[in-house]
Amino acid sequence: MQTRFDLTQSDIPKAWYNLLADFPEPLPPPLHPGTKQPCPPEALTAIFPENLVRQEMCPDQWVEVPEPVREIYALWRPTPLLRAVRLERALQTPAHIYYKYEGASPSGSHKVNTSVPQAFFNKEAGTKRLATETGAGQWGSSVALACKLFGLECNVYMVKVSYQQKPYRRMLMHTWGATVHASPSDQTSYGRKLIAEDPHCPGSLGIAISEAIEDTVTHPDTKYSLGSVLNHVCLHQTVIGEETIKQMEMAGEEPDSIFACCGGGSNFAGLAFPFLRKKIKEGKNYRIVGVEPSACPSLTEGELRYDFGDTAETTPLMMMYTLGHKFMPPSIHAGGLRYHGMSPMVSHALKLGLIEAEAYHQTKVFEAATLFARTEGIIPAPESAHAIAGVVEEAIKARETGKKRVILFNLSGHGLLDLSAYETYLNGKLSDI
Ligand SMILES: *Cc1c(COP(=O)(O)O)cnc(C)c1O
Repeated sequence: MQTRFDLTQSDIPKAWYNLLADFPEPLPPPLHPGTKQPCPPEALTAIFPENLVRQEMCPDQWVEVPEPVREIYALWRPTPLLRAVRLERALQTPAHIYYKYEGASPSGSHKVNTSVPQAFFNKEAGTKRLATETGAGQWGSSVALACKLFGLECNVYMVKVSYQQKPYRRMLMHTWGATVHASPSDQTSYGRKLIAEDPHCPGSLGIAISEAIEDTVTHPDTKYSLGSVLNHVCLHQTVIGEETIKQMEMAGEEPDSIFACCGGGSNFAGLAFPFLRKKIKEGKNYRIVGVEPSACPSLTEGELRYDFGDTAETTPLMMMYTLGHKFMPPSIHAGGLRYHGMSPMVSHALKLGLIEAEAYHQTKVFEAATLFARTEGIIPAPESAHAIAGVVEEAIKARETGKKRVILFNLSGHGLLDLSAYETYLNGKLSDI
């Protein structure tokens, strides 16, 4: 039985898919925090280069992938699609389970799919230096590599508690030549203010974003780079779903249910948006599910409203499912899912009833992750394991109802730098919040 479906280099997508063109209702625009009016492009070019601002608001259905970006994508793309036959057997399910493996990239996750084009478009626009934030380091390391490949300086604000407790991705960033600051830092006035108030402030993603933005607007030739949430990030990630559509055709099957974990929404968007095109345009009836942690449940328990992307209230207001920009997520092991808001595009798709959302506690997530590791071999990232928890439930439902389902999910990254979280789980020390 064929269980692995590989494409060739010429199958790397030549265009990204833009769901903005196909939404049955237009996406509410970002608002200027001062005027509360739709954000003029000029307000965004203070922190992003013009070419990426154009992509952020692009009405076209397809956006060309520049050849230099495709050449770098070829270092790890096309990524494989695999059928998880051993997991199916362990679950005694009639369901067929497929996964797209994005952990095959140099940084170990899907995030380089957007850091590379972001560095490319910045280079083209004359940017010399990028500032960004990172939680546990997945995004920071992806930007560090992309900057190095295009000859940009890279300045990363890393949430302090992760900087201290999770050294390996910090070392990756250093190896790829980036400068890394523990946030809150003494590099910005916002960071200095927070340190003065509380020298032991552990930091948060919202704070690190505020610092990276302040760094951007106070340094020449510097732009800001964000790893999720925004429209152009979701756009870049659609290489995942475009490849997967071809690979499911190779496998001769069509998915019934599609799962991906949701932090800011980008790996979910990457897999789901191309299938949403088929749902909207061809009347396909996929069940598409975003899976999030119960400890940070923006989609399942948040409110759909305009909110800031950061703690210091410097970003434009975005219409999204949010827990509030002052929400401090508890320190669960899936660091990449600890964000108060959700991508406006993913939020809009949920509001329109095109997708669904589920939330799981981390013990359940690690149970699913361990089962996957023991059957399929790959140690999943704790973030990706949320999708697996959803898939396991779906496969068990298929067993109980005797329905043959085809389930597809995005394995957004590997967990080889998250082994301490596995140890905590295996020692019985993991708790639900
Ligand atoms: C960052 C990260 C996520 C969460 O971010 P999204 O924008 O929601 O995709 C998920 N999986 C992995 C492996 C990550 O590194």
